[in-house]
Amino acid sequence: MAKVVCVLYDDPIDGYPKSYARDDLPKIDHYPGGQTLPTPKAIDFVPGTLLGSVSGELGLRKYLESQGHIFVVTSDKDGPDSVFERELVDADVVISQPFWPAYLTAERIAKAKNLKLALTAGIGSDHVDLQAAIDRGMTVAEVTFCNSISVAEHVVMMILGLVRNYIPSYEWVVKGGWNIADCVSRSYDVEGMHVGTVAAGRIGLAVLRRLKPFDMHLHYYDRHRLPEAIEKELDLTWHPNVEDMVKVCDVVTINAPLHPETEHLFNNALLSKMKRGAYLVNTARGKICDRDAVVRALESGQLAGYAGDVWFPQPAPKDHPWRTMPHHGMTPHISGTSLSAQARYAAGTREILECFFEGRSIRDEYLIVEGGKLAGTGAHSYSAGDATGGSEEAAKFKKAG
Ligand code: NDP
Repeated sequence: MAKVVCVLYDDPIDGYPKSYARDDLPKIDHYPGGQTLPTPKAIDFVPGTLLGSVSGELGLRKYLESQGHIFVVTSDKDGPDSVFERELVDADVVISQPFWPAYLTAERIAKAKNLKLALTAGIGSDHVDLQAAIDRGMTVAEVTFCNSISVAEHVVMMILGLVRNYIPSYEWVVKGGWNIADCVSRSYDVEGMHVGTVAAGRIGLAVLRRLKPFDMHLHYYDRHRLPEAIEKELDLTWHPNVEDMVKVCDVVTINAPLHPETEHLFNNALLSKMKRGAYLVNTARGKICDRDAVVRALESGQLAGYAGDVWFPQPAPKDHPWRTMPHHGMTPHISGTSLSAQARYAAGTREILECFFEGRSIRDEYLIVEGGKLAGTGAHSYSAGDATGGSEEAAKFKKAG
């Protein structure tokens, strides 16, 4: 018997949905490149329903309880008096989603003497102190590819939204106006612009593929170069370092994991090397950008716009300056948790739990840390170390009510 503690975001303010806008989800056979979708032995949820909030329980309760395990679900995750902090002490498994991350700092890992598996229902395990997990011999796994395409779609939406000045124009309509000149004074076409991605992994490459039909010039910076055939097919320009790339781009999109190499990569120095009036879209992790440097760059006009859905910490405090800075198109962290994505990562979470409890190997592509070192996708895409510093600030959101 094991204890599984699962941290999920709250239900909608009007309660758990009784009906949905659509009746089904499209069938997807495999991910781009051929990786198969999650293969659990069974699922106990209806795809297309809300699974990522506390009442959705990732569709796991029936399965876990039928196996005799204890299953605790909570959204109360921050501060020393939180349910998560209390329940963690004798937990064997912690499940968390990046949208509402249960920060697993070294202190928390030290308190959780039985903890063997930190499972990310989604992609991005930077909310776990990976160094502490390595030192402890824990397994860290995530559901690789489950929402990469969801995010790529969001990135394209945000690039178009910023460049074409969508949100302020929408606001004029809601205010009852017809202020065409106000709307278009900051509105451009993306056609002919240069767009570059920091990292061309699953999301970065999918963004480039989606932008190709807009007749943009495509650039990327990554530690490993893409196959020549892909570079030719998309007419890509590779840059050996990020500075080289940002200098020539009108739009930059960040699609790298957060780890010590990428933390605060977009600081004053790098932002000042970008073209004046460039747009920056970050759906990767908030901490890859220096919070105040982004605000200053928007205020001075160095950046024409900033959008994304990732903040640090999460939830963002009510007074986080990105809520009120000029020319932004921020959303809460939602791009990877569409109902479509939830069905995939709930199934992937179930697959990983089945493997863990049955003593079967977890797919290599899902592994981030195993056996005291980075493993699988973790060994390719992350670097060892800790990026959770400052996460205790997330408790401020709760205090502000
Ligand atoms: P992948 O693992 O497929 O891609 C990550 C890429 O980042 C790899 O190509 C890796 O390069 C590259 N990379 C890592 N470190 C660096 C570095 N220092 N400089 C340049 N490139 C680097 O992951 P995904 O594309 O699926 O996801 C990327 C990130 O997006 C996730 O880690 C997560 O943080 C975020 N994400 C956000 C979501 C949201 O809802 N907003 C949802 C899903 C993911 P290489 O392997 O060549 O070294």
